[in-house]
Amino acid sequence: MKKPLIGITGDIFIDAHDELFPGLHKSCVNNDYIRAVEKAGGTPLILPLIFDSEAIKDQVEAVDGILLSGGYDVHPRFYGEEPLEKLGFILQERDKHEIELIKIAIELNKPVFGICRGLQILNVALGGSLYQDLSYIEDCNIKHFQKSLKGATSHTVDLIKGTKLFDILGEKIITNSLHHQAVKEAAPTLEITALSKDGVVEGLEYTGDNYIVAVQWHPEMIFENYPIMLKLFQRLVEESSKKQ
Ligand code: MN
Repeated sequence: MKKPLIGITGDIFIDAHDELFPGLHKSCVNNDYIRAVEKAGGTPLILPLIFDSEAIKDQVEAVDGILLSGGYDVHPRFYGEEPLEKLGFILQERDKHEIELIKIAIELNKPVFGICRGLQILNVALGGSLYQDLSYIEDCNIKHFQKSLKGATSHTVDLIKGTKLFDILGEKIITNSLHHQAVKEAAPTLEITALSKDGVVEGLEYTGDNYIVAVQWHPEMIFENYPIMLKLFQRLVEESSKKQ
């Protein structure tokens, strides 16, 4: 059987110091996503950031499943807020691309797995909101942006019984943490599946029939040291193989 094609949402990388072409916009994803999907038995495919609605639909139709990758902050206008002081770098074009792509994926019943920003944009696309910075949350006292070498874990996460995520990972795990924003209101069609000890949302999943699971941490950066994290990608590949 053909391996399922997993579309990974692309980012724009701008290297102001590129020797030959400073400021050139490059379409890319971190290679960890590619490695993780390949290791899990899928065929990774980068879905570059595009604008044409019909072409975005073509992107979704062309793949069996979608991985929403990490990246910049989501512009707060997409959840009805003004930008606050601690908002990070934003790229609205990417927000628009992914919001449209998520809606089409749901329409076409394609499995989706969201990572970090992927969880946040999923929540916003379906009507939820975000904290623009963790310092705006009262009682948020855990370090959610770890300083360490890639591959290291940081804080614990408790998973909620009865969810798909619990089914995949069990009731307690240790994750890495590289985010400064978090879910405020979960979208009406998403349920919270995981929490850190200070109450920050670390997982969401869709309550409808589609397989749509998202996590706030970065399993693609730690699956080599912590093989349990590969299960998240294997489950996406497995769900996607049913759509072929
Ligand atoms: Mn965290």
